[in-house]
Amino acid sequence: MGMTKEEILLEEINALESEIEQLRDENLGLRAELSSLKENTRKPDEAKAMIAEMLIAEVGKATKKFPIWPTDPLHAVAILNEEVGELNQAILQTIYEPEKSDKYDVRDEAIQAGAMLIRFMMSLDKYNYSCSIQHEQEVPKQSSEGEEG
Ligand SMILES: [Mg+2]
Repeated sequence: MGMTKEEILLEEINALESEIEQLRDENLGLRAELSSLKENTRKPDEAKAMIAEMLIAEVGKATKKFPIWPTDPLHAVAILNEEVGELNQAILQTIYEPEKSDKYDVRDEAIQAGAMLIRFMMSLDKYNYSCSIQHEQEVPKQSSEGEEG
């Protein structure tokens, strides 16, 4: 039972139409993928501008809350180190205790640490590099010392 020329053409048309539909679906999928990639991948300049904006905002917030800053550079760096320690903890928790911290906490702590570095640098020509008041310490006695002596 052979097909007429018309039937063969109709079948070919149907096959082509379903192929077109499939390509259209693939195209839609690719478009969605592309637009989500565009959302997630900012241009480096945009990212830099965003980070700079966040740092400046954090410097403003922190300076408003604590307007004074140590003139002793070791006290000043201790404040920076405290924030770096919190960044360290956020990263460790994101890895090993993910219920306590996530990548957004890491970002926030990085911004806080960066802001403290900026505050540290803002005072570079105001630091006083003098020794702290110091005192002597006794050498601790070891239990073996008594026996030998
Ligand atoms: Mg912090």
